Amino acid sequence: MTKIVVVEDEKPIAKLLKYNLERNGYIVLVAYDGEQGLSLIKESKPDLILLDLMLPKIDGIELCKMVRRESSTPMIMLTAKKDETDRVLGLELGADDYVTKPFSVKELLARVKTVLRRSSENLNSKKSFHLGDLTVDLERYEVKRGHKEVALSPKEFEFLKVLLLSDGKVLTRENLLESLWKYDQASEMDTRTIDQHIARLRNKLGKEGRTIHTVKNVGYRLKI
Ligand code: CA
Repeated sequence: MTKIVVVEDEKPIAKLLKYNLERNGYIVLVAYDGEQGLSLIKESKPDLILLDLMLPKIDGIELCKMVRRESSTPMIMLTAKKDETDRVLGLELGADDYVTKPFSVKELLARVKTVLRRSSENLNSKKSFHLGDLTVDLERYEVKRGHKEVALSPKEFEFLKVLLLSDGKVLTRENLLESLWKYDQASEMDTRTIDQHIARLRNKLGKEGRTIHTVKNVGYRLKI
């Protein structure tokens, strides 16, 4: 399910957004000021953020900056027509698109769809990642520290790949079992196998192994 965080202090607009997005099958969480928005984004790891510019406590521009320091979650800004300077600044700071108030719900939904599609295409076409001092090349199945290769087994590499592509989301042991083993094999596997693979992977990654966090009783997430 696609999760969207709406940060908007004008309650009628927030309500309108929530109602229409939910009708279109999205899970919607709403925050009414920047501070609440920031913690909601950190906690819930949304797939998309709808961000009003003029917000109490932390304004939209500042919030945009803070989010971009930690993640590449797609963001659409909601701006008033007169906020042109802020809109440009927002796009420079990494917002993906903007919608000018008053907006039509239909237009907003179209933007949401486009930005989500673009972001999933980007993630799927990304071929290499940086993890601390390591470079991970997904096409060559190669992990390098500088010029030195870190030898991983194919399974360990698959684990790393799934973690990298999850964009910071928590992966449950069941998720990992299903993505890494075929169904008929997976049903006979024990989730403890996952823990053993992760332990070996962490070990081999050295200090970057610490970016793989255990979420107690649930699974794992990569925190870069
Ligand atoms: Ca506002």
